[in-house]
Amino acid sequence: MERVSVAVTKSGKRLPYVVTDNPPRGGMKYTYFAPDRSYVIQFYNNPADADYNTRSRIEAIIGKYNPTVPEAKGGAIGIDEKTADYYSKRYCWPFDIVVSPEFGIVSKAYPKKFFFDSAASPVLNLFGRDKKSNWFTSANRRFLHKSELGDLRSALACSVLLSRSVRRLHQAGLAHSDLSNNNVLIDPATGDCIVIDIDSLVVPGLYPPEVAGTRGYIAPEVVSSMNLDRRDPRRIYPSAKTDLHALAVLIYEYIFFRHPLIGPKVNSTVSAEEDDRLSLGEKALFIENPYDRSNRPKDLSGEIDDLGEILSGLFKRAFIDGLHNPALRPTALEWERGLVRTWELLVECDNKNCDRRWQIFSPETRFCPFCGNKISDKNITLNFFYETKTNPGEYRKIFSSSVTDNSPLFCWHFTPNIIPDEKTDKTLLAYIIKHGSDFYLVNSKVHGLYAPDGRLIAPGRACAIDDGDILFSDKGVLIQIQTDFANLI
Ligand SMILES: [Zn+2]
Repeated sequence: MERVSVAVTKSGKRLPYVVTDNPPRGGMKYTYFAPDRSYVIQFYNNPADADYNTRSRIEAIIGKYNPTVPEAKGGAIGIDEKTADYYSKRYCWPFDIVVSPEFGIVSKAYPKKFFFDSAASPVLNLFGRDKKSNWFTSANRRFLHKSELGDLRSALACSVLLSRSVRRLHQAGLAHSDLSNNNVLIDPATGDCIVIDIDSLVVPGLYPPEVAGTRGYIAPEVVSSMNLDRRDPRRIYPSAKTDLHALAVLIYEYIFFRHPLIGPKVNSTVSAEEDDRLSLGEKALFIENPYDRSNRPKDLSGEIDDLGEILSGLFKRAFIDGLHNPALRPTALEWERGLVRTWELLVECDNKNCDRRWQIFSPETRFCPFCGNKISDKNITLNFFYETKTNPGEYRKIFSSSVTDNSPLFCWHFTPNIIPDEKTDKTLLAYIIKHGSDFYLVNSKVHGLYAPDGRLIAPGRACAIDDGDILFSDKGVLIQIQTDFANLI
Protein backbone atom coordinates (compact mmCIF):
# COMPACT_ATOMS: atom_id res chain seq x y z
CA MET A 1 0.00 0.00 0.00
CA GLU A 2 1.28 3.47 -0.87
CA ARG A 3 1.17 6.46 1.43
CA VAL A 4 2.89 9.84 1.41
CA SER A 5 5.32 10.77 4.13
CA VAL A 6 7.40 13.93 4.64
CA ALA A 7 11.17 14.17 5.04
CA VAL A 8 12.72 17.18 6.77
CA THR A 9 16.11 18.15 5.34
CA LYS A 10 19.16 19.81 6.84
CA SER A 11 18.48 22.92 4.74
CA GLY A 12 15.00 23.10 6.31
CA LYS A 13 12.93 21.84 3.39
CA ARG A 14 9.93 19.56 3.91
CA LEU A 15 9.95 17.06 1.04
CA PRO A 16 7.04 14.65 0.51
CA TYR A 17 7.81 11.11 -0.69
CA VAL A 18 5.74 8.06 -1.55
CA VAL A 19 6.26 5.13 0.80
CA THR A 20 5.89 1.77 -0.94
CA ASP A 21 5.98 -1.77 0.46
CA ASN A 22 8.92 -2.97 -1.63
CA PRO A 23 11.11 0.02 -2.43
CA PRO A 24 14.04 -0.50 -4.88
CA ARG A 25 16.94 -1.67 -2.72
CA GLY A 26 20.70 -1.61 -3.36
CA GLY A 27 23.58 -2.97 -1.29
CA MET A 28 23.50 -0.03 1.15
CA LYS A 29 20.28 1.91 0.66
CA TYR A 30 16.63 1.80 -0.42
CA THR A 31 14.82 4.45 -2.43
CA TYR A 32 11.52 6.32 -2.29
CA PHE A 33 10.35 8.70 -5.01
CA ALA A 34 8.80 12.18 -4.81
CA PRO A 35 5.08 12.18 -5.77
CA ASP A 36 6.04 13.82 -9.10
CA ARG A 37 9.22 11.64 -9.31
CA SER A 38 11.42 14.75 -9.61
CA TYR A 39 13.70 13.68 -6.73
CA VAL A 40 14.49 10.54 -4.76
CA ILE A 41 15.02 10.04 -1.05
CA GLN A 42 17.29 7.24 0.09
CA PHE A 43 17.61 5.71 3.53
CA TYR A 44 20.16 3.20 4.74
CA ASN A 45 19.22 -0.50 4.88
CA ASN A 46 21.05 -0.58 8.17
CA PRO A 47 20.72 2.85 9.88
CA ALA A 48 23.90 2.05 11.84
CA ASP A 49 25.83 2.43 8.54
CA ALA A 50 24.97 6.14 8.61
CA ASP A 51 27.57 6.76 11.32
CA TYR A 52 29.58 9.91 12.03
CA ASN A 53 32.12 9.10 9.27
CA THR A 54 29.43 8.56 6.67
CA ARG A 55 27.66 11.78 7.62
CA SER A 56 30.87 13.85 7.46
CA ARG A 57 31.65 12.37 4.07
CA ILE A 58 28.20 13.08 2.66
CA GLU A 59 28.28 16.66 3.99
CA ALA A 60 31.60 17.23 2.17
CA ILE A 61 30.20 15.65 -1.02
CA ILE A 62 27.11 17.86 -0.99
CA GLY A 63 29.13 20.95 -0.07
CA LYS A 64 32.72 21.80 -0.90
CA TYR A 65 33.25 18.92 -3.38
CA ASN A 66 30.02 19.45 -5.28
CA PRO A 67 30.69 20.36 -8.97
CA THR A 68 26.96 20.68 -9.71
CA VAL A 69 26.64 23.82 -7.56
CA PRO A 70 28.57 27.06 -8.33
CA GLU A 71 31.30 27.97 -5.87
CA ALA A 72 29.39 31.20 -5.03
CA LYS A 73 26.47 29.08 -3.78
CA GLY A 74 28.57 26.72 -1.67
CA GLY A 75 29.72 24.26 -4.34
CA ALA A 76 33.21 23.19 -5.43
CA ILE A 77 36.08 25.62 -5.92
CA GLY A 78 36.33 27.07 -9.45
CA ILE A 79 32.83 26.02 -10.53
CA ASP A 80 30.76 28.74 -12.23
CA GLU A 81 27.05 28.62 -13.20
CA LYS A 82 27.73 27.22 -16.68
CA THR A 83 30.05 24.45 -15.49
CA ALA A 84 27.70 23.57 -12.62
CA ASP A 85 24.87 23.25 -15.12
CA TYR A 86 27.04 21.03 -17.34
CA TYR A 87 28.04 18.70 -14.49
CA SER A 88 24.52 18.48 -13.14
CA LYS A 89 23.78 16.56 -16.37
CA ARG A 90 26.81 14.27 -15.84
CA TYR A 91 26.06 13.14 -12.28
CA CYS A 92 23.07 12.40 -10.17
CA TRP A 93 24.63 14.32 -7.29
CA PRO A 94 22.91 14.36 -3.87
CA PHE A 95 21.76 17.86 -2.94
CA ASP A 96 20.48 17.64 0.62
CA ILE A 97 20.58 15.50 3.76
CA VAL A 98 17.44 14.14 5.39
CA VAL A 99 17.45 14.64 9.16
CA SER A 100 13.94 13.33 9.94
CA PRO A 101 12.46 10.70 10.18
CA GLU A 102 16.04 9.35 10.00
CA PHE A 103 19.32 10.08 8.25
CA GLY A 104 19.10 9.89 4.46
CA ILE A 105 20.02 11.70 1.28
CA VAL A 106 18.07 13.54 -1.40
CA SER A 107 19.10 13.43 -5.06
CA LYS A 108 17.54 14.60 -8.28
CA ALA A 109 15.79 11.76 -10.13
CA TYR A 110 17.55 10.57 -13.31
CA PRO A 111 16.33 12.26 -16.49
CA LYS A 112 13.59 10.34 -18.33
CA LYS A 113 15.91 9.18 -21.11
CA PHE A 114 17.67 6.87 -18.61
CA PHE A 115 14.47 4.87 -18.06
CA PHE A 116 13.17 2.41 -20.63
CA ASP A 117 9.78 3.27 -22.10
CA SER A 118 7.08 0.77 -23.04
CA ALA A 119 8.43 0.39 -26.61
CA ALA A 120 11.99 -0.45 -25.49
CA SER A 121 11.69 -4.19 -25.96
CA PRO A 122 9.30 -6.27 -28.04
CA VAL A 123 10.01 -9.26 -25.75
CA LEU A 124 10.63 -8.08 -22.19
CA ASN A 125 8.64 -5.71 -20.05
CA LEU A 126 11.35 -3.14 -19.33
CA PHE A 127 8.99 -0.22 -18.82
CA GLY A 128 10.26 2.06 -16.06
CA ARG A 129 13.54 0.18 -15.48
CA ASP A 130 16.75 2.20 -15.47
CA LYS A 131 19.22 1.86 -18.33
CA LYS A 132 22.08 -0.02 -16.72
CA SER A 133 24.73 -0.63 -19.35
CA ASN A 134 24.57 -4.44 -19.24
CA TRP A 135 21.24 -4.24 -21.09
CA PHE A 136 23.25 -2.89 -24.01
CA THR A 137 26.59 -4.64 -23.64
CA SER A 138 25.59 -8.28 -23.02
CA ALA A 139 23.51 -10.85 -24.85
CA ASN A 140 20.50 -8.89 -23.53
CA ARG A 141 20.96 -6.60 -26.54
CA ARG A 142 18.97 -8.99 -28.66
CA PHE A 143 15.84 -8.26 -26.60
CA LEU A 144 15.97 -4.50 -27.18
CA HIS A 145 14.25 -2.55 -29.91
CA LYS A 146 16.69 -1.41 -32.62
CA SER A 147 16.07 2.25 -31.77
CA GLU A 148 17.62 1.71 -28.31
CA LEU A 149 20.92 0.20 -29.45
CA GLY A 150 22.90 3.18 -30.73
CA ASP A 151 26.04 2.66 -32.83
CA LEU A 152 29.83 3.02 -32.61
CA ARG A 153 29.60 6.81 -32.63
CA SER A 154 27.15 6.91 -29.72
CA ALA A 155 29.30 4.36 -27.85
CA LEU A 156 32.23 6.78 -28.18
CA ALA A 157 29.99 9.65 -27.05
CA CYS A 158 29.01 7.75 -23.86
CA SER A 159 32.71 6.96 -23.31
CA VAL A 160 33.81 10.59 -23.68
CA LEU A 161 31.17 11.76 -21.19
CA LEU A 162 32.01 9.04 -18.68
CA SER A 163 35.77 9.77 -18.94
CA ARG A 164 35.03 13.47 -18.40
CA SER A 165 32.88 12.74 -15.34
CA VAL A 166 35.58 10.53 -13.82
CA ARG A 167 38.29 13.06 -14.74
CA ARG A 168 36.40 15.80 -12.87
CA LEU A 169 36.13 13.62 -9.75
CA HIS A 170 39.82 12.74 -9.86
CA GLN A 171 40.91 16.35 -10.47
CA ALA A 172 39.10 17.27 -7.26
CA GLY A 173 40.92 14.48 -5.39
CA LEU A 174 37.79 12.30 -5.21
CA ALA A 175 37.39 8.67 -6.28
CA HIS A 176 34.05 7.07 -7.14
CA SER A 177 35.11 3.70 -5.65
CA ASP A 178 32.26 1.68 -7.20
CA LEU A 179 32.11 2.52 -10.91
CA SER A 180 30.21 -0.26 -12.62
CA ASN A 181 27.40 -1.10 -14.99
CA ASN A 182 25.03 -0.45 -12.07
CA ASN A 183 26.32 2.99 -11.19
CA VAL A 184 26.69 4.47 -14.66
CA LEU A 185 23.51 4.67 -16.73
CA ILE A 186 23.80 5.08 -20.49
CA ASP A 187 21.41 5.97 -23.29
CA PRO A 188 23.09 4.68 -26.47
CA ALA A 189 20.29 6.13 -28.61
CA THR A 190 21.49 9.66 -27.74
CA GLY A 191 25.06 8.91 -26.60
CA ASP A 192 24.32 10.25 -23.13
CA CYS A 193 25.57 8.93 -19.82
CA ILE A 194 25.09 9.76 -16.12
CA VAL A 195 27.06 8.67 -13.05
CA ILE A 196 24.90 7.75 -10.07
CA ASP A 197 25.42 6.58 -6.46
CA ILE A 198 27.71 9.50 -5.75
CA ASP A 199 27.39 9.04 -1.98
CA SER A 200 30.03 6.29 -1.99
CA LEU A 201 32.78 8.69 -3.11
CA VAL A 202 36.18 8.50 -1.44
CA VAL A 203 36.82 11.99 -0.05
CA PRO A 204 40.35 13.22 0.84
CA GLY A 205 41.06 13.18 4.56
CA LEU A 206 37.84 11.39 5.53
CA TYR A 207 37.18 7.71 6.23
CA PRO A 208 36.44 5.85 2.99
CA PRO A 209 33.08 4.09 2.60
CA GLU A 210 32.90 0.34 3.00
CA VAL A 211 32.21 -0.51 -0.61
CA ALA A 212 32.20 -4.12 -1.75
CA GLY A 213 32.37 -3.18 -5.44
CA THR A 214 30.69 -4.90 -8.35
CA ARG A 215 31.91 -8.12 -9.99
CA GLY A 216 33.76 -7.46 -13.23
CA TYR A 217 34.69 -3.87 -12.36
CA ILE A 218 36.76 -4.32 -9.22
CA ALA A 219 40.46 -3.86 -9.99
CA PRO A 220 42.51 -7.10 -9.92
CA GLU A 221 44.63 -5.93 -6.96
CA VAL A 222 41.47 -5.30 -4.91
CA VAL A 223 40.02 -8.71 -5.85
CA SER A 224 43.32 -10.43 -4.93
CA SER A 225 43.46 -8.84 -1.47
CA MET A 226 39.77 -9.14 -0.56
CA ASN A 227 40.31 -12.18 1.61
CA LEU A 228 42.80 -10.37 3.85
CA ASP A 229 41.76 -8.83 7.15
CA ARG A 230 40.59 -5.20 6.96
CA ARG A 231 43.56 -4.08 9.06
CA ASP A 232 46.11 -6.02 7.00
CA PRO A 233 48.42 -3.48 5.33
CA ARG A 234 48.47 -5.62 2.17
CA ARG A 235 44.71 -5.17 1.73
CA ILE A 236 44.01 -2.76 -1.16
CA TYR A 237 40.98 -0.47 -1.12
CA PRO A 238 39.15 1.38 -3.89
CA SER A 239 40.88 4.56 -5.07
CA ALA A 240 41.27 6.71 -8.18
CA LYS A 241 43.66 4.03 -9.54
CA THR A 242 41.02 1.32 -9.17
CA ASP A 243 38.42 3.65 -10.76
CA LEU A 244 40.71 3.73 -13.80
CA HIS A 245 40.41 -0.05 -14.18
CA ALA A 246 36.60 0.15 -14.00
CA LEU A 247 36.56 3.07 -16.45
CA ALA A 248 38.56 1.10 -19.04
CA VAL A 249 36.30 -1.96 -18.57
CA LEU A 250 33.15 0.14 -19.11
CA ILE A 251 34.55 1.83 -22.24
CA TYR A 252 35.62 -1.55 -23.65
CA GLU A 253 32.13 -2.95 -22.98
CA TYR A 254 30.36 0.04 -24.56
CA ILE A 255 32.40 -0.42 -27.73
CA PHE A 256 32.66 -4.21 -28.08
CA PHE A 257 29.71 -5.60 -26.00
CA ARG A 258 32.01 -8.01 -24.16
CA HIS A 259 34.09 -8.02 -20.99
CA PRO A 260 37.85 -7.53 -21.51
CA LEU A 261 38.89 -10.20 -18.99
CA ILE A 262 36.20 -12.87 -19.27
CA GLY A 263 37.39 -15.44 -21.80
CA PRO A 264 37.70 -19.21 -22.12
CA LYS A 265 40.69 -19.68 -19.79
CA VAL A 266 40.01 -21.68 -16.61
CA ASN A 267 42.22 -20.74 -13.66
CA SER A 268 40.80 -23.11 -11.06
CA THR A 269 38.79 -26.31 -11.18
CA VAL A 270 38.25 -26.27 -7.42
CA SER A 271 35.13 -24.10 -7.63
CA ALA A 272 33.49 -21.53 -9.89
CA GLU A 273 34.03 -18.90 -7.18
CA GLU A 274 37.75 -19.63 -6.95
CA ASP A 275 38.07 -19.55 -10.76
CA ASP A 276 36.25 -16.21 -10.83
CA ARG A 277 38.41 -14.76 -8.04
CA LEU A 278 41.59 -15.71 -9.90
CA SER A 279 40.37 -14.79 -13.40
CA LEU A 280 39.34 -11.30 -12.30
CA GLY A 281 42.16 -10.94 -9.77
CA GLU A 282 45.64 -12.40 -9.49
CA LYS A 283 45.53 -14.26 -12.85
CA ALA A 284 43.47 -11.72 -14.81
CA LEU A 285 44.43 -11.78 -18.50
CA PHE A 286 43.17 -9.48 -21.28
CA ILE A 287 41.23 -11.50 -23.87
CA GLU A 288 43.06 -9.59 -26.66
CA ASN A 289 46.54 -9.91 -25.13
CA PRO A 290 48.77 -10.55 -28.18
CA TYR A 291 51.58 -12.13 -26.09
CA ASP A 292 49.41 -14.66 -24.27
CA ARG A 293 46.42 -15.83 -26.30
CA SER A 294 45.23 -18.44 -23.79
CA ASN A 295 42.18 -16.35 -22.77
CA ARG A 296 41.19 -15.36 -26.29
CA PRO A 297 37.63 -16.26 -27.39
CA LYS A 298 37.26 -17.90 -30.81
CA ASP A 299 35.33 -15.18 -32.58
CA LEU A 300 35.93 -11.53 -31.85
CA SER A 301 33.85 -9.04 -33.77
CA GLY A 302 36.09 -6.00 -33.91
CA GLU A 303 39.33 -5.66 -31.93
CA ILE A 304 41.15 -2.79 -30.24
CA ASP A 305 43.49 -2.43 -33.23
CA ASP A 306 40.43 -1.51 -35.33
CA LEU A 307 39.94 1.63 -33.23
CA GLY A 308 43.09 3.40 -34.38
CA GLU A 309 46.43 3.72 -32.64
CA ILE A 310 45.28 6.15 -29.91
CA LEU A 311 42.53 3.98 -28.44
CA SER A 312 44.32 0.69 -29.03
CA GLY A 313 47.33 2.19 -27.19
CA LEU A 314 45.15 3.22 -24.25
CA PHE A 315 43.50 -0.22 -24.03
CA LYS A 316 46.92 -1.91 -24.12
CA ARG A 317 48.09 0.28 -21.25
CA ALA A 318 44.91 -0.43 -19.27
CA PHE A 319 44.67 -4.18 -19.84
CA ILE A 320 48.24 -5.31 -20.53
CA ASP A 321 50.81 -2.94 -18.93
CA GLY A 322 48.51 -1.58 -16.22
CA LEU A 323 46.30 -4.60 -15.48
CA HIS A 324 48.50 -5.68 -12.57
CA ASN A 325 50.42 -2.41 -12.28
CA PRO A 326 47.93 0.36 -11.37
CA ALA A 327 50.48 3.17 -11.84
CA LEU A 328 50.59 2.41 -15.59
CA ARG A 329 46.84 2.72 -16.22
CA PRO A 330 45.78 5.64 -18.44
CA THR A 331 44.21 8.52 -16.50
CA ALA A 332 40.63 9.59 -17.12
CA LEU A 333 41.99 12.73 -18.82
CA GLU A 334 44.02 10.57 -21.22
CA TRP A 335 40.90 8.55 -22.04
CA GLU A 336 38.86 11.71 -22.56
CA ARG A 337 41.44 13.23 -24.89
CA GLY A 338 42.13 9.97 -26.76
CA LEU A 339 38.41 9.45 -27.33
CA VAL A 340 37.94 13.04 -28.51
CA ARG A 341 40.80 12.68 -31.00
CA THR A 342 39.42 9.34 -32.18
CA TRP A 343 35.99 10.92 -32.62
CA GLU A 344 37.57 13.05 -35.38
CA LEU A 345 38.29 9.85 -37.33
CA LEU A 346 34.76 8.44 -37.41
CA VAL A 347 33.66 7.47 -40.90
CA GLU A 348 30.13 6.31 -41.72
CA CYS A 349 29.94 2.73 -43.00
CA ASP A 350 28.36 2.52 -46.47
CA ASN A 351 26.59 -0.73 -45.61
CA LYS A 352 23.06 0.27 -44.61
CA ASN A 353 22.72 -3.01 -42.68
CA CYS A 354 25.89 -2.49 -40.61
CA ASP A 355 24.70 -2.46 -36.99
CA ARG A 356 27.66 -0.32 -35.84
CA ARG A 357 27.11 2.24 -38.66
CA TRP A 358 30.52 3.86 -38.08
CA GLN A 359 34.16 2.85 -38.15
CA ILE A 360 37.42 4.54 -37.25
CA PHE A 361 39.42 5.66 -40.25
CA SER A 362 43.01 4.61 -40.67
CA PRO A 363 44.94 4.68 -43.96
CA GLU A 364 45.67 0.97 -43.55
CA THR A 365 42.03 -0.05 -43.05
CA ARG A 366 40.28 -1.30 -46.17
CA PHE A 367 37.16 -2.86 -44.65
CA CYS A 368 34.67 -2.11 -41.87
CA PRO A 369 35.82 -4.31 -38.95
CA PHE A 370 32.23 -4.94 -37.90
CA CYS A 371 30.51 -5.91 -41.18
CA GLY A 372 33.38 -6.39 -43.63
CA ASN A 373 32.09 -3.76 -46.04
CA LYS A 374 34.72 -1.96 -48.15
CA ILE A 375 35.66 1.35 -46.54
CA SER A 376 33.92 4.46 -47.80
CA ASP A 377 35.80 6.74 -50.21
CA LYS A 378 33.62 9.77 -49.54
CA ASN A 379 35.89 11.07 -46.78
CA ILE A 380 39.18 12.93 -46.98
CA THR A 381 41.68 13.47 -44.20
CA LEU A 382 42.89 16.73 -42.73
CA ASN A 383 46.25 16.37 -40.94
CA PHE A 384 46.83 19.06 -38.31
CA PHE A 385 50.40 20.17 -37.54
CA TYR A 386 51.41 22.62 -34.77
CA GLU A 387 54.44 24.87 -34.87
CA THR A 388 56.93 23.75 -32.23
CA LYS A 389 57.85 26.26 -29.53
CA THR A 390 61.50 25.32 -29.54
CA ASN A 391 62.03 25.60 -33.31
CA PRO A 392 59.80 28.27 -34.88
CA GLY A 393 59.04 27.31 -38.46
CA GLU A 394 59.09 23.60 -37.62
CA TYR A 395 55.72 21.83 -37.47
CA ARG A 396 54.75 18.56 -35.83
CA LYS A 397 51.72 16.42 -36.73
CA ILE A 398 49.35 16.40 -33.75
CA PHE A 399 46.13 14.80 -34.97
CA SER A 400 44.03 13.98 -38.01
CA SER A 401 40.39 14.45 -38.85
CA SER A 402 38.37 12.49 -41.38
CA VAL A 403 35.91 14.86 -43.06
CA THR A 404 33.20 14.72 -45.69
CA ASP A 405 30.39 16.87 -47.06
CA ASN A 406 29.12 19.26 -44.33
CA SER A 407 31.76 18.32 -41.75
CA PRO A 408 32.05 21.23 -39.28
CA LEU A 409 35.35 22.72 -38.08
CA PHE A 410 35.83 24.48 -34.73
CA CYS A 411 38.38 26.50 -32.78
CA TRP A 412 40.47 23.41 -31.98
CA HIS A 413 41.05 22.90 -35.71
CA PHE A 414 42.62 26.34 -36.18
CA THR A 415 44.31 27.03 -32.83
CA PRO A 416 47.13 24.97 -31.32
CA ASN A 417 46.82 23.12 -28.03
CA ILE A 418 43.04 23.10 -27.71
CA ILE A 419 41.51 19.70 -27.04
CA PRO A 420 37.76 20.17 -26.73
CA ASP A 421 36.23 19.73 -23.30
CA GLU A 422 33.17 21.02 -21.45
CA LYS A 423 34.49 24.60 -21.47
CA THR A 424 35.51 24.82 -25.14
CA ASP A 425 33.66 27.24 -27.43
CA LYS A 426 31.68 25.12 -29.94
CA THR A 427 30.96 27.95 -32.41
CA LEU A 428 31.18 26.75 -36.02
CA LEU A 429 34.20 28.43 -37.63
CA ALA A 430 34.36 26.69 -41.02
CA TYR A 431 33.07 23.61 -42.80
CA ILE A 432 33.83 21.26 -45.66
CA ILE A 433 31.59 20.83 -48.67
CA LYS A 434 31.79 18.31 -51.48
CA HIS A 435 30.75 19.37 -54.95
CA GLY A 436 30.87 16.49 -57.43
CA SER A 437 34.22 14.93 -56.67
CA ASP A 438 35.79 18.21 -55.48
CA PHE A 439 36.15 19.32 -51.87
CA TYR A 440 36.07 22.91 -50.57
CA LEU A 441 36.76 24.47 -47.22
CA VAL A 442 34.24 27.25 -46.54
CA ASN A 443 35.52 29.79 -44.04
CA SER A 444 32.77 31.25 -41.84
CA LYS A 445 34.67 32.99 -39.05
CA VAL A 446 38.40 32.17 -39.08
CA HIS A 447 40.72 35.16 -39.26
CA GLY A 448 44.26 34.71 -40.60
CA LEU A 449 43.65 31.55 -42.67
CA TYR A 450 45.72 31.20 -45.86
CA ALA A 451 45.30 29.06 -49.01
CA PRO A 452 48.15 26.91 -50.40
CA ASP A 453 49.14 29.78 -52.76
CA GLY A 454 49.44 32.22 -49.82
CA ARG A 455 46.19 34.01 -50.58
CA LEU A 456 44.08 35.00 -47.54
CA ILE A 457 40.84 32.99 -47.24
CA ALA A 458 38.71 35.73 -45.66
CA PRO A 459 35.60 34.83 -43.63
CA GLY A 460 32.75 34.22 -46.10
CA ARG A 461 35.11 32.83 -48.78
CA ALA A 462 35.79 29.23 -49.84
CA CYS A 463 38.93 27.48 -51.04
CA ALA A 464 39.17 24.32 -53.16
CA ILE A 465 41.26 21.67 -51.40
CA ASP A 466 43.02 18.72 -52.97
CA ASP A 467 45.53 16.03 -52.12
CA GLY A 468 48.80 17.45 -50.78
CA ASP A 469 47.51 21.02 -50.36
CA ILE A 470 48.59 22.83 -47.21
CA LEU A 471 46.56 25.61 -45.53
CA PHE A 472 48.07 27.85 -42.85
CA SER A 473 46.54 29.63 -39.89
CA ASP A 474 48.52 32.56 -38.51
CA LYS A 475 48.13 31.03 -35.04
CA GLY A 476 50.72 28.36 -35.88
CA VAL A 477 48.56 25.57 -37.32
CA LEU A 478 49.22 23.94 -40.67
CA ILE A 479 46.51 21.79 -42.29
CA GLN A 480 47.61 19.18 -44.80
CA ILE A 481 44.95 17.71 -47.09
CA GLN A 482 45.09 14.00 -47.85
CA THR A 483 42.58 12.60 -50.32
CA ASP A 484 44.57 9.96 -52.12
CA PHE A 485 44.65 6.58 -50.43
CA ALA A 486 44.47 4.74 -53.77
CA ASN A 487 48.02 3.45 -53.48
CA LEU A 488 47.04 1.64 -50.30
CA ILE A 489 44.18 -0.33 -51.86
ZN1 LIG B 1 30.14 -1.71 -41.30
